[in-house]
Amino acid sequence: MPGRRPLRPTGQRTGRSPLPRRVATLSVHTSPLDQPGAGDAGGLNVYVVEVSRRLAARGIAVEVFTRATSSDLPPVVEMVPGVTVRHVSAGPFEGLGKHDLPAQLCAFTAAVLREEARHEPGHYDVLHSHYWLSGQVGWLARDRWGVPLVHSAHTLAKVKNAALADGDEPEPRARVIGEEQVVAEADRLIANTAEEARQLVRWYDADPARTLVVPPGVDLERFAPGDRAAARRAVGVADDALVLLFVGRIQPLKAPDVLLHAAARLLADEPGLRARLQVLVVGAPSGSGLAEPRQLQELAVSLGIADVVRFVPPQAPAALAEHYRAADVAVVPSHNESFGLVALEAQACGTPVVAAAVGGLPTAVDDGVSGVLVDGHDPADYAAAIRKVVEQRDLLAAGARRHAARFSWDRTTESLVDAYAAAIGEMRAVVRPPRERVRAAVRAFSVGGPAR
Ligand code: UDP
Repeated sequence: MPGRRPLRPTGQRTGRSPLPRRVATLSVHTSPLDQPGAGDAGGLNVYVVEVSRRLAARGIAVEVFTRATSSDLPPVVEMVPGVTVRHVSAGPFEGLGKHDLPAQLCAFTAAVLREEARHEPGHYDVLHSHYWLSGQVGWLARDRWGVPLVHSAHTLAKVKNAALADGDEPEPRARVIGEEQVVAEADRLIANTAEEARQLVRWYDADPARTLVVPPGVDLERFAPGDRAAARRAVGVADDALVLLFVGRIQPLKAPDVLLHAAARLLADEPGLRARLQVLVVGAPSGSGLAEPRQLQELAVSLGIADVVRFVPPQAPAALAEHYRAADVAVVPSHNESFGLVALEAQACGTPVVAAAVGGLPTAVDDGVSGVLVDGHDPADYAAAIRKVVEQRDLLAAGARRHAARFSWDRTTESLVDAYAAAIGEMRAVVRPPRERVRAAVRAFSVGGPAR
């Protein structure tokens, strides 16, 4: 593959693999300081926050580079001790969408390289890029600094385009090409699930030896079972209500419309349910199409269920946990989902999940044990699955808690540290430090002219 260096990764940490002291984390298009559940802020942001905190707790400093999206933002923010967020000026603060950002990557990369140049060589031991835009920045920084690039795609354009919902715009070819380049250049690719690893290998020609499966986690202290009646009071739903919950960025890919259609089907089959059915949709728009809350509200009106649907703005974790606890069922009907943290968080709170059998959701949900997986997006199937979960709720709630407890951000972080250490060890064994390489190139040039 062009540009690939002769590394021999094993995916294993060897006894000699050095631990990183400082990680440069790249999150170009969305900041760990943003509230998830709206716009471009979602699971990626939660991932970066949870992992960075835990790296810092292990004594590994993290510097997160993200684009400044407001003139009010200070250039540097200490998120927690050991985790610094650097706001990089790249393009105008406001008015740029994700699709405008490829044109700003040069400016972003220049700022990252200049920051490193202020320090002694070897300031960063490893780069971890999130999403392909960051991978493009990381690829150049890696070559300049002589440190490995670990990349998490989070979503893949080819996979997304194969599962488009009505109203969803296909991801542009430029992104597909950009992703292919990052896959070819990264020293490690981190996949959330075995399925994502297979997609990277089959669809992007990733090297299997560089592709590691590291499942994301869930904060089991924050998302824990609790007093359901108190949660219902906090959220403002009646004790005897049947509560169906959607949480996430409101966009066609997440298919909140499927939940509304399923709720309409439940009411059509059992009109008496109207007195106690409550559908909660937590989140805010992201992208186009059904992203317009008005369109979703209009759908609720046209289905004749507007009186049982409530739209709730994005919630901070403590309030979000109350919504999970208050719900009978969390519904995740996405057309595609690289993992689905929402499904895991709901289960951790003891709420079973009805989810589409796509992407990472079959990993996030244990079908028949912690919830029910549904093939396709027929609302009748979702209505049937919701009924099934309600009938077996206690059993599935216990299964949900057990299943969620298998995931933890501590384990995610530990696996990432192993991946960093192995990649650093290999790179130090194979590649000489950049300044030494430059001197060697100059010597070769002076002696024998340019290499042919
Ligand atoms: N989230 C939140 N508040 C909200 C809605 C969502 O904090 O009101 C968080 C949620 O806790 C989860 C993340 O956003 O951790 C969404 O991640 P997921 O993997 O489900 O979807 P993504 O946004 O990555 O597509």
